[in-house]
Amino acid sequence: MTEALPTEIELAVVTPDRQVARERVKSVTIPGKSGYLGVLPGHAPLLTELSPGTLSYSETSKTVFLAVTWGFAEVLPGHVIVLANTAERPEEIDLARAERAKQRAEERLKNLSDPELDQERAREALRRAIARIETARHAKSV
Ligand code: ATP
Repeated sequence: MTEALPTEIELAVVTPDRQVARERVKSVTIPGKSGYLGVLPGHAPLLTELSPGTLSYSETSKTVFLAVTWGFAEVLPGHVIVLANTAERPEEIDLARAERAKQRAEERLKNLSDPELDQERAREALRRAIARIETARHAKSV
């Protein structure tokens, strides 16, 4: 006898500090290393690295957005486990702080010839800031 496919996903999003979400959801969209990955119940197992971006999940009547930075996501047919370095709900995002972080990184990246510049670090900071800004805006627009 074949096992029935799950109709929901048990989603857990955790950071080193806290559990940000633990919900039964209908779908999850993960910002993966090679692009956004849509996951429905019954998805084939996989492991992906996260990229800074917006993770979203849909419950029956609403979609929730989270800004995530680095980490991993494990997808199993009825589960998604996200281990993220940082994850914030839109209402937790300090937009002014993210704008300042973006500006700082952009200023640093203007001086590519500066021997003190850690380019990789500045680019990563820029990506985190953009992920937060876009998540906050996205959540406001729905
Ligand atoms: P900043 O330069 O502003 O500190 P960052 O990208 O270096 O930004 P992280 O190292 O990614 O910050 O995060 C450190 C902690 O601060 C984490 O707990 C993260 O959730 C939180 N955090 C960072 N930026 C913001 C923000 N704009 N709004 C709310 N929380 C933030």
